[in-house]
Amino acid sequence: MTIDIKKDMEALRDLQQKMNAYDHAIGVLYLDGVTAAPFGTASGRGRTMGVLSEASHRLFANDEVGELLERMSKYKEALDLQTKREVEELTRSYQRLSQIPAAEYAAYATLVSDAEAVWEKAKTEADFPAFRPYLEKIIDYQKRFAAYYDSEKAPYDALLDQYERGTTMAQLDNFFGRLKERLSPLVAEIAQQPAPEDGFLHRPCPRQDQQKLSARLMEIMGLDPRYAALSESEHPFTTNFNKHDVRITTHYYEDDVASSMFSVIHEGGHALYELHIADELDFTCLGTGVSMGVHESQSRFYENIIGRSREFTAYLLPVLKQLFPGSFADVSAEQFYRAVNKVQPSLIRTEADELTYPFHIMVRYELEKQLIEGTLTVADLPEAWNALYKELLGVDVPDDRHGVLQDSHWAGGSIGYFPSYALGNAYGAQMLHVMEQELPDMWKGVGEGDLSAVSGWLAENVHLFGCLRTPAETVEFACRGSFDPEYYLAYLDGKYRDIYGLR
Ligand code: ZN
Repeated sequence: MTIDIKKDMEALRDLQQKMNAYDHAIGVLYLDGVTAAPFGTASGRGRTMGVLSEASHRLFANDEVGELLERMSKYKEALDLQTKREVEELTRSYQRLSQIPAAEYAAYATLVSDAEAVWEKAKTEADFPAFRPYLEKIIDYQKRFAAYYDSEKAPYDALLDQYERGTTMAQLDNFFGRLKERLSPLVAEIAQQPAPEDGFLHRPCPRQDQQKLSARLMEIMGLDPRYAALSESEHPFTTNFNKHDVRITTHYYEDDVASSMFSVIHEGGHALYELHIADELDFTCLGTGVSMGVHESQSRFYENIIGRSREFTAYLLPVLKQLFPGSFADVSAEQFYRAVNKVQPSLIRTEADELTYPFHIMVRYELEKQLIEGTLTVADLPEAWNALYKELLGVDVPDDRHGVLQDSHWAGGSIGYFPSYALGNAYGAQMLHVMEQELPDMWKGVGEGDLSAVSGWLAENVHLFGCLRTPAETVEFACRGSFDPEYYLAYLDGKYRDIYGLR
């Protein structure tokens, strides 16, 4: 038996090493496609990526792997913790994949690939009817997939489980209900106050000087240039190949310096998570962030809790004054702090401020739930979208480009993904509460541009574990107790009442 276990373990590691190699190659091709590759090169790259994806799929979704995982599951209690977790995670992925009939999965993959191209054009032209038949099919597939994943669960619960394991509609109804109850009156009160002056954020800042700012921010965050690099793409994102190779991207707007500044800090937060994962998890399925929600908790911790803090903005302003002398010379630390925290209900999720952001997620959550439950049709979706934006954010949606077509998630088949963003914000605020108790001088360091204590705490309490623990266990450990949205509400209430002089 001992010999068999050893052989099985070797086969398991070998499988993961190979899967990682395919992911690495596909990831580099993707990164090249959205950063450096010339416009006309997409089709050849698409074919190569198709071949690699299929090979990677075949490597994993076959009977031999199924037998290996089944055999190892039987004696998993005899394995070391890491191997046991690898078996559990791979078994979970395997079951998900193998429950969907191969032909159905292939047809769905083609649909999604077509839908993404159609969505992009439909968005540019604000033409929802062009995208509608694709979204209808995607919703139908997702309903069927939900039944394959777990026929015992309500379909939307089964979909949520893919992104933030264990999360249910019952929990989210409660979570968003509490947010709405507490934050709506606060946003309304703020709307009665004079808006902070933020015109100076739109003064011209040359691209090459913004690039210097990015390099400086990466240095401040402790992103080691040997293992992390920045490039430019239309939409900022992070991609990780292994713990010694993480890439982030940004997008520069010469009349909006804050856009790239906070993108770099946000993506830098994602990158630090990946870079800090324990060495022994590298090249296994456990060697990455544990869930979307926990990943967002880290990126938003850096972007909002640290990056938009009074201490950090006071540290950063002289850096900006030096890099962009004409644009910030007459700006005070308080003006800068208030400007980057200006609350303004708006149309676009990715441009939303920290306080109104969760309302954008509530809109999507309500609509996804209804689409999957079958109480809303895709045909009625734009109208329902616009009505919810009016109800929750008080804004009128002028067209579907600035409304229902703004995000790529649904075109990509990601239904149940959005709530993770809101949960991530809330996890981060609860982690801050613990961090402030354990690191009483943390804000002093942040004010001096020294983020080492903050990053060290997150590395030790979150990053190191990768997927060795479940998302809920990861959050519970870092929060020293179960998740409670009250910390997030108290954080937002305290910060924004102070900024707007409300008591
Ligand atoms: Zn993010």
